[in-house]
Amino acid sequence: MAKYSIHVFCNECTDVHPTGIVINLDDGPVNKASIGDTYAGKELPIEVATLKNNTFTCPNTSKPFSQSDNDQVFLVPISN
Ligand SMILES: [Zn+2]
Repeated sequence: MAKYSIHVFCNECTDVHPTGIVINLDDGPVNKASIGDTYAGKELPIEVATLKNNTFTCPNTSKPFSQSDNDQVFLVPISN
């Protein structure tokens, strides 16, 4: 199991923000990668699939946003 911090591309300010969400994955990437690349041709793990239902708040504009594009949601490994 490895721990990953979830970062998402923000449509409001076109920056990438950490969400504060941390998930554990058995088959995650070694380096930062989008979930689209990581799970190309595979089924998304449930913890990853449900991220698309989340609403985040942009720290720059304070506007809510969500991200449903698998290529714009990133897994960032956390080293222990
Ligand atoms: Zn933003």
